[in-house]
Amino acid sequence: MEDVVIIGAGPCGLSAAAELQNHGFDPLVIEKENVVHSIACYPTYMQFFSTAALLEIASVPFITPNEKPYRLEALHYYRTVAERREMRIRRYEKVTEVNRVGDAFVIRSVRRTGETLETRARVVVVATGYFDHPNLIGIPGEELPHVSHFFREAHPYAGMRVVVIGGSNSAVDASLEMERVGAKVTVVYRGESVSANIKPWVRPIFDSMASKGRIDLRLNSRVTEIRPHEVTVESQNGAETLECDFVLALTGFRPDRGFLRAMGIEAPDGVIPPTHNPETMETNVPGLYLAGVVSTGRDANEIFIESGRFHGRKIAEHLASITNN
Ligand SMILES: Cc1cc2nc3c(=O)[nH]c(=O)nc-3n(C[C@H](O)[C@H](O)[C@H](O)COP(=O)(O)OP(=O)(O)OC[C@H]3O[C@@H](n4cnc5c(N)ncnc54)[C@H](O)[C@@H]3O)c2cc1C
Repeated sequence: MEDVVIIGAGPCGLSAAAELQNHGFDPLVIEKENVVHSIACYPTYMQFFSTAALLEIASVPFITPNEKPYRLEALHYYRTVAERREMRIRRYEKVTEVNRVGDAFVIRSVRRTGETLETRARVVVVATGYFDHPNLIGIPGEELPHVSHFFREAHPYAGMRVVVIGGSNSAVDASLEMERVGAKVTVVYRGESVSANIKPWVRPIFDSMASKGRIDLRLNSRVTEIRPHEVTVESQNGAETLECDFVLALTGFRPDRGFLRAMGIEAPDGVIPPTHNPETMETNVPGLYLAGVVSTGRDANEIFIESGRFHGRKIAEHLASITNN
């Protein structure tokens, strides 16, 4: 029987593991891919908006000569923390079910080989993030093969017409990168301007590209249908057809509420976060905790690494206080 199992080895799951170690626990982490898998899937050349210090976990310094670290540095950093702290991590094992049986949880998981496992634990921390669940727009054609909710790098789009849906950092970064390789980029965003949270050193470059017409920025506009070679864009001026080869719907992510509900956690779809005590991160199911972005409401931007990395400390302090009493 394990004392604590953590599901997910993202920055917040790893931070929780380190905090639990600090309090004398030896948690087991189960990760469906490899450590910090979400970051591994981020755009190849992405620069974080946070400083390295704000991404640190386990009191391990994140050293970089850059003002803000890049994705590759973050991969190296979190991998190193997991190694140095000798965390017990079972990789490439997906948790499919968590059930309370008596005074323990039974965690069912499946390995890449198809082998299924059952692990028992007194306490479970769910730190599964949100990156597997992009916010779908729900328009016809969204499922077509030339439509993606993820951007890796610009090269495949060189010389092509790309419609980017969204106005966040992801949409702005991708648009600039694609413009640089010679893509014809149109950004369609429902807001009056792109997000106020655009990285301040990127914003002027994007504004300049838009004002020069090198990126076609359509504000107060929505893509309402995607077809193989064109999209329909609606704005106050009416509907317009834009020809395009690819559509990148960079509209953010949301945690998988169904996974939480199946464990007995109250997690209605919508803006309300899953039921949990923000002081301890314990959910309405005693012994079942949340760490990281999975604990967020609909606005997944309210929790990120900067803030979610502290959830583990709350959990560890709470468990230590129960154990000591
Ligand atoms: C492009 C981009 C840039 C960002 N920049 C910043 C930034 O500058 N600063 C900042 O603070 N935040 C930033 N964020 C947000 C930040 O990356 C996330 O908030 C953070 O990754 C959340 O960490 P997490 O550990 O909660 O979840 P994740 O990092 O998503 O980790 C969850 C882990 O759980 C695993 N998992 C999921 N389901 C299962 C399962 N069933 N069984 C086993 N394992 C499972 C996943 O494979 C993954 O490894 C950015 C996000 C994006 C998309």
